[in-house]
Amino acid sequence: APALLQVSDLTKHFRVGGSVLRKARTLRAVDGISFAVAPGETLSLVGESGCGKSTVARSLVRLVSPTSGQVTLAGQRIDDLPAGTLRPLRRRIQMVFQDPFSSLNPRMRVRDILAEPIRNFGLAKNRADLDGRLAALMERVGLPREALSRFPHEFSGGQRQRIGIARALAAEPDLIICDEAVSALDVSVKAQIVNLLQNLQKELDLALLFISHDLAVVEHMTHRVAVMYLGKIVEIGPRRDIFAHPQHPYTRALLSAVPVPDPGARRSRIVLRGDVPSPIDPPRGCRFHTRCPHVVARCKIEEPRLDPIGRDHLTACHLA
Ligand code: SF4
Ligand code: MG
Repeated sequence: APALLQVSDLTKHFRVGGSVLRKARTLRAVDGISFAVAPGETLSLVGESGCGKSTVARSLVRLVSPTSGQVTLAGQRIDDLPAGTLRPLRRRIQMVFQDPFSSLNPRMRVRDILAEPIRNFGLAKNRADLDGRLAALMERVGLPREALSRFPHEFSGGQRQRIGIARALAAEPDLIICDEAVSALDVSVKAQIVNLLQNLQKELDLALLFISHDLAVVEHMTHRVAVMYLGKIVEIGPRRDIFAHPQHPYTRALLSAVPVPDPGARRSRIVLRGDVPSPIDPPRGCRFHTRCPHVVARCKIEEPRLDPIGRDHLTACHLA
């Protein structure tokens, strides 16, 4: 199937710290990344905090404007839409955030929180249609209909995230971006919300861009994985390849920290030295070379390209 979302060489740079005394510097939050999401597919974007994942999400929905690159949704350019014409885009790509408490208006009842996008995008034909949609949304996310008349603070964290998901679904999107949507939840609640997203995706044929720093969360629900490090994708491929045969040393290190249920199959932990360098003046050559256990001279000079190493599996490493 042709891609629903196609991201080509997307870049988002920020100017930081300019003053009369100091030259502004460039923070390379997202630095030339490309990927596609097919209709009904889940792509997980993983990496440590600060690697640029959230900036990718914010660029796609135009909370920030990309510096360069191209983004198309169902074949239509969306990266260069003028500010006044973003409404259809905002309907078709919805976001679910990490903290549903701060993203849900505490003074609004659930009914009004969910009715807002339905009204904004003119989706309901009449009052009865609106009521029917509200009831259907509650059922989809596993909340009782009575909850419509309550306020966000009356719910647990997991229930609030269900409301956040219902609000995203209310707009009838093609793509939902979940930005650390389960990261703040307890383990058992996390699993419930992941299951809910997975079921919704199958039922509604939704595409999901699932952003997480936690590989354990994405392992059982994603179709493909893209691993980001310092504003770049270092490896991308089908879930099975990434989890069973990771090729990039950074992916291997991330995976080594994921607990496996069978103790006999434990992956040995790879501890990386140092911290993630600043995205202002990132290291030359391979950006991972300051922490890579396999670094060779070439890595410090020449930037590795993201090259195919298998079917739909690409990695950016000189040793791959
Ligand atoms: Fe490590 Fe070199 Fe590969 Fe970068 S290119 S990941 S530094 S081996
Ligand atoms: Mg983030």
